[in-house]
Amino acid sequence: MKLCRFDEDRLGVVKGDMVHDVTAAQDEIRKSARYDMKGDAVIAALPAWRARIEEMAAKAPGKPISSVKLLSPVARPTKAMAAPTNYKKHIEEMRSRTDLPKDATRAPPNIEKAGIFLKANSSIVGVSEGIPLRFPDRLNEHEIELVIIIGKQGTDIPKAKFKDYIAGYAMGLDMTCRGSEDRSFRKSIDGYSVIGPWMVTADEVANPDDIVITLHCNDDLRQTADTKDLIYDCGRLIEFASSFYTLYPGDVIFTGTPEGVSPIEAGDEIVATIEKIGTMRVRVRAAEAAPVAEAGVAVSRMS
Ligand code: MN
Repeated sequence: MKLCRFDEDRLGVVKGDMVHDVTAAQDEIRKSARYDMKGDAVIAALPAWRARIEEMAAKAPGKPISSVKLLSPVARPTKAMAAPTNYKKHIEEMRSRTDLPKDATRAPPNIEKAGIFLKANSSIVGVSEGIPLRFPDRLNEHEIELVIIIGKQGTDIPKAKFKDYIAGYAMGLDMTCRGSEDRSFRKSIDGYSVIGPWMVTADEVANPDDIVITLHCNDDLRQTADTKDLIYDCGRLIEFASSFYTLYPGDVIFTGTPEGVSPIEAGDEIVATIEKIGTMRVRVRAAEAAPVAEAGVAVSRMS
């Protein structure tokens, strides 16, 4: 099942190029959730609600996904975690680059030593919101990443059990302003964590550690890789993250970007594709400009 959030905080089930409104389920789930719960109420309720949501979607008339505004598929993650260096070729490219600012932080060589970093929840946007460039004079780059959406609370999760803790997957853009500041600062600019276009539930992705991810910018192929080349695979990332943090439903993990990261500027269109998930188009714009009306029209290209 593909679940999206759209327009003004509505919940939808995506089938083909249509979205079926199931906001009534979201309303009921949220009404019975405690305000002080940790995690996202809808993601936490999915196992209990899935059959009913599917029934509701079957009865709801669809509307074209191109006519809705797509938001982040998770409304309230307690945290967004990210792997700093998780593909060998990306570590190599960052070491050899000569175009970075002199004082720029480079990719640490070892994820075990570097650990996982956090991106501010306030930086999360959906595809239709676009990416506002706050510092156009600095080097800003795209990083496409598979995103894991956690489905249930867990701490010290053993690698072998990782699938029990995954609600689904989405595509992520870990947008990055290069420079000397801490990662959590320069990767948490408003709009610098794009998640979308929807969440694909875990049952539709048999093996998250062998799927192809691709990023084009203005029709230029910039990044392509297979998640089988992840240094820490999805299971190890969950084990590692949960050895420091308790994970909660709706928490997201950006799994790291492969080689090919490169500069973006206002006016660019990023087209990201991940096998089993789909394709999303995201506009880059100047921070002061209003969102582009046609931004983020998602084209589903299912594999
Ligand atoms: Mn990244």
